[in-house]
Amino acid sequence: MVLGALNVKMHVETMEIVTDRGPQFIDITPDVVAATVRSGIRNGLVVVFSKHTTAAIKINENEPELIKDMEHLVSHVAPADQYYHHNNFDVRTVNMVEDECPNGHSHCQHLLLNTSETIPLLDGKLQLGTWQSIFLVELERSRPRQVLVQILGI
Ligand code: ZN
Repeated sequence: MVLGALNVKMHVETMEIVTDRGPQFIDITPDVVAATVRSGIRNGLVVVFSKHTTAAIKINENEPELIKDMEHLVSHVAPADQYYHHNNFDVRTVNMVEDECPNGHSHCQHLLLNTSETIPLLDGKLQLGTWQSIFLVELERSRPRQVLVQILGI
């Protein structure tokens, strides 16, 4: 797709990922790099976007002991065993679905994280620093998730 007179191109892929548990940090950097290579775009912006309110996108370091710390942090900021109005199905009437799950803690944890990250693309390379990896952060439970990767550039 060509946008306007600058010959800006756009490439979009939707990644389907089944998570194991919440919280879980899943390094999706290689998948984002692969989508960028497939796009043929060498200079521009790469947007990585979660289509969910209980699964986030965040850039941080992929170090196993640190990941334990980060999982601990999100779990303790909004513990699953606290009371959440969103989980009171006797009162709640909005956005109720057949398999509605009590996930108030997951939404509150998501408030601290991001729905998307934007990464500069220069000379065909994502401009991630040495210790920067792109994570899908599951905050609920094992679920199928969709992550949209949109590359804009020339
Ligand atoms: Zn919910």
